[in-house]
Amino acid sequence: MSEPQAQFARLPLHLQKHLSGATKMVVQCPRSSARKTLNECVRCDHCRGLALDPDSARSYLVCNWHATDEQESGATTIAGRTAVSEIMTRQVVCAAPEMSAEALALMLVERNISGVPVIAPSGDVLGIASKSDLVRDQVLNGETTDVPHLGQTVYGHDVELGPGWYETELAKKTVAEIMTPIALTIPEKASVARAAAFMTFEHVHRVPVVDEDGNVVGILSTLDVLRWLAQQEGFVIPEGK
Ligand code: SF4
Repeated sequence: MSEPQAQFARLPLHLQKHLSGATKMVVQCPRSSARKTLNECVRCDHCRGLALDPDSARSYLVCNWHATDEQESGATTIAGRTAVSEIMTRQVVCAAPEMSAEALALMLVERNISGVPVIAPSGDVLGIASKSDLVRDQVLNGETTDVPHLGQTVYGHDVELGPGWYETELAKKTVAEIMTPIALTIPEKASVARAAAFMTFEHVHRVPVVDEDGNVVGILSTLDVLRWLAQQEGFVIPEGK
């Protein structure tokens, strides 16, 4: 009988910056669903060294851990046995880093979504851009103009504003400037239980799902997890809700 073939994941290296000015290289560890430094990885039995992609000139950590190695063997609940890929949303709306913040706001409103992953031309996840990022940027940097009259046309809509209201113009920035530049991802083979623990720990409501090459193949939101939980109990949730 032939031995099962070893499989390796190439995990993109990310530069993590601290307020102190210190920097370190980190990867998103599929085993712990947390960021690990290179120092931590080289001490791990699953580390197979670094690799350079000559096309993109990017460096990767080569890791041979697989979700099936240990995670599923001890799983006692269906949430521990169900892979993220079974419940994630496959049609991923992404933003390019050079897209304007104004276009991002329109896209989020039109598609009724609260955040999107920001993807580089190489396919790497650069961060997440959400309504919260837009609001934060507006509060910190937005220009405001006092509204002189009660009746106004704001962005093409007739509105009645009372005294003390301000008209704001969305800052002329790019998505790269306003996004949260933390490239949290979760592997498609991770369990729903692990994903829920990860999202809770990191305080995020959505996380891009990646295949073994680090390519985004879906997105998992807290709503996906809640919908799946309800369906497990027999509730029928209409598509798109
Ligand atoms: S080598 Fe792989 S499993 Fe080990 S800490 Fe690094 S990313 Fe995680």
